[in-house]
Amino acid sequence: MSGKVIATEAPAATGGERAPVLSLHHVSKRFGDHAALDGVSLDVHEGEVVVVVGPSGSGKSTLVRCVHQLEAIDGGSMHLDGELLGYEPHRGGLRPLRERGVAAQRRRIGMVFQQFQLFPHFTALRNVAEAPMRVHGASRADAEREAMELLERVGLHDRAHHYPRQLSGGQQQRVAIARALAVRPRVLLCDEPTSALDPELVDEVLAVLRGLAADGLTMVVVTHEMAFAREVGDRLVFMEAGRVVESGPPAELFARPRTARLRAFLSRHT
Ligand code: ADP
Ligand code: MG
Repeated sequence: MSGKVIATEAPAATGGERAPVLSLHHVSKRFGDHAALDGVSLDVHEGEVVVVVGPSGSGKSTLVRCVHQLEAIDGGSMHLDGELLGYEPHRGGLRPLRERGVAAQRRRIGMVFQQFQLFPHFTALRNVAEAPMRVHGASRADAEREAMELLERVGLHDRAHHYPRQLSGGQQQRVAIARALAVRPRVLLCDEPTSALDPELVDEVLAVLRGLAADGLTMVVVTHEMAFAREVGDRLVFMEAGRVVESGPPAELFARPRTARLRAFLSRHT
């Protein structure tokens, strides 16, 4: 960890408010001498939908990839339900978690990628049932029954026995969402979930995400869909050059961006 300080204290509940589900504190991530994340702090509370926007290269994917521990951070700290992500106490300091510890934490975080990333040789049902069976030791019958319920939730119970190549992009992404939910994550991260889709397929995926938000799922959604950000987001986070430039209620930020940079971004994207 190159000697950099990682804060160890878990985020506390303040002023009667519950502690955040997910909390990032001064997180930094470098690629060579380029700072992809430069001191990002962010709290996501129970049931909250945080929408992250920003120009290409601003660090949005790096942010969600770090939370999912697909990338290791270089500084700062991240907590999930008060538990430090990626590190464990060791001899009065901290050491990186072993693979098993990382895997256990990762199962509490769902991730949906731009390119779906379904297993091509598994049916939709098997894609969704796989993790509960393999990782959680659920019986096939239980895992498939729950997978069918999740496919129903994303409107695809009639496609359960189709393979990814037999599904449209929108349907594949809805299977990917069902798969991410199958491990009952505390928070669902979505990285531009509609950016790879033909325009006519975008709405069916956004409708599923809107339904999950209405059901109270805690989510972080990176997207360029500004109407979605405005309607579904509880909070909008605008990133540029690895930093959070503005953050607040979407309606407020849309109506009165404080920085010229957000104003310029909004004028290009709305
Ligand atoms: P966004 O998702 O907002 O478009 P990214 O998080 O993908 O931005 O990238 C942020 C910055 O980090 C960019 O400058 C990008 O080139 C760089 N970057 C991302 N991943 C890598 C990597 N694996 N190796 C080197 N540079 C990377
Ligand atoms: Mg990205």
